[in-house]
Amino acid sequence: MGLAAALECAYFGVPAMLVERHSGTTWHPKARNLNSRTMEIMRRLGVERALQAVGLPGAWTRQIVYADTLSGAELGRMSTGGFESQISAASPCAAVLSSQDVFEPIWRGRAEQQPLLDVRYGHQAEILDVDGTGAVVRLTGARGGEVRARYLLAADGAGSAIRQMLGVGVEGPKNLGHFINVYYRANLDRLVAHRPAVLYFTAHEAGRGVFQPLDGRYRWLSQIAYDGSAEARAAFDGERCVRWIRNATGDPALKIDVLGISHWTMNATVAKRYRRDAAFLVGDAAHQLPPTGGFGLNTGIADVHNLVWKLAYVLKDWSDPGLLDTYETERKPVARFNADRAMDNSRSVARIQRAVTDGAAAASEVARSRRYGNFRGLELGYSYHSAAVIDDGSPAPQPEDPVEDYLPCARPGHRLPHMWLEGGALSTLDLVGRRFVVLSDSPRWLEAAVQHSADCRVLPGNGGFLELFGLEPGGAVVVRPDGHVAARFAAPSEFPGGALAAVFRELLNTTTS
Ligand SMILES: Cc1cc2nc3c(=O)[nH]c(=O)nc-3n(C[C@H](O)[C@H](O)[C@H](O)COP(=O)(O)OP(=O)(O)OC[C@H]3O[C@@H](n4cnc5c(N)ncnc54)[C@H](O)[C@@H]3O)c2cc1C
Repeated sequence: MGLAAALECAYFGVPAMLVERHSGTTWHPKARNLNSRTMEIMRRLGVERALQAVGLPGAWTRQIVYADTLSGAELGRMSTGGFESQISAASPCAAVLSSQDVFEPIWRGRAEQQPLLDVRYGHQAEILDVDGTGAVVRLTGARGGEVRARYLLAADGAGSAIRQMLGVGVEGPKNLGHFINVYYRANLDRLVAHRPAVLYFTAHEAGRGVFQPLDGRYRWLSQIAYDGSAEARAAFDGERCVRWIRNATGDPALKIDVLGISHWTMNATVAKRYRRDAAFLVGDAAHQLPPTGGFGLNTGIADVHNLVWKLAYVLKDWSDPGLLDTYETERKPVARFNADRAMDNSRSVARIQRAVTDGAAAASEVARSRRYGNFRGLELGYSYHSAAVIDDGSPAPQPEDPVEDYLPCARPGHRLPHMWLEGGALSTLDLVGRRFVVLSDSPRWLEAAVQHSADCRVLPGNGGFLELFGLEPGGAVVVRPDGHVAARFAAPSEFPGGALAAVFRELLNTTTS
């Protein structure tokens, strides 16, 4: 998350230092899913194409397969629109399924090209002091020393030492399961090539777990549950992992080259506070999500996307520092919701596996697991309620299922709906930049926007956007730099200048933004 935060800082013209204790990016392929909202953020940061280039081929993104073993009875399949590498009507970007060891270097490469960023791999950070005026950090490494920063983003992972140092606890269920992750090369074509899938869950007692394709060829990752004890963990050496993979594939002679083994504990916890003084928790330091559904990294990317423009506004004196308090108000409920849904997915898988153990039919449980892989509402439909949004009193959309279904809407707090403009060359989301932007069909908003240092785009009123954004001709939406609607004037305003002045006074506590 440090890399994403650094790239956001560079985008907003904020000089920043990134400190990472390891000498390189992760070797372990843990996170795979960059959902379409994350890819929208990556599009703005200029790395969308590079990430697409390392994505799994589309055929592998469309379903989850449940089986006894990979050679045994198939229990069912579930289609997975959320992972699909096809552009949907809801977003200009398709999701990318890849692996963290492959996409982190893309972010690192991009960060190292930014003149405003000081990227220090191989440096350990120790926080010496944090108060309302900044943070003092001791760095150990080739370019070590003491550094003072106006703000500190703690992106130090689930076990965050900074969170502990700040005395911030977490809430929610812990120790929900313990897993061995084995990363390996094997040719499973005979078992999977006829049914490419995002995930293959196996339920057989001797090989219960999951197979995750990493490149659609021979790189695989499997997760195996164990009891969490140090002895059991130690027993999972290469030989034991190979035995498990052979049991779960049902192929006792399968050739396997183990590349790495790691372990992790499943939690569904969220930090009690996201901020103390000048320090902000982001990513896994702020929330620890079960990996079922692939929401963890995406939730973290959305955190930094929410926070960094606010930091930029405060650092440039375009806003009162109170704006920074809305980071926690806006992001914490999203993390709780996503953690709970990830836990639901984990329970769905357990129910399917239990049905097999109990000799019951698993098909109905597979049918109940639809939300695992179908989450357009969760990724695009959430909204913010805070002092950085001006409620217009309109009712919230009521999707049939808030996880699966997304209803585009430009109600304040929601992400601006996507619509193609200029014959598909541009998305409405491409109009969102470093400053607030006013979107209207009327040029009357142009001058007012300039007065308030906001951008303004006048769109053709007959193109469908008025209806999509819930506007009458002459109305306008004011969109924040993170693409969420700050205010909506459904009806034309007599004094656009006065209307915008009131918006920025309320949101930023300033007369101009
Ligand atoms: C098995 C597994 C599968 C997953 N699958 C998915 C998925 O499919 N999709 C998804 O969205 N998410 C997934 N996740 C979650 C995802 O990996 C995490 O959400 C993501 O890596 C969090 O990023 P982060 O930067 O917040 O934390 P981390 O990736 O943990 O990074 C923290 C970094 O901080 C560094 N650091 C810590 N302390 C210091 C210090 N004092 N000084 C300097 N550096 C320090 C660490 O070395 C580390 O590199 C999965 C997680 C697991 C365990």
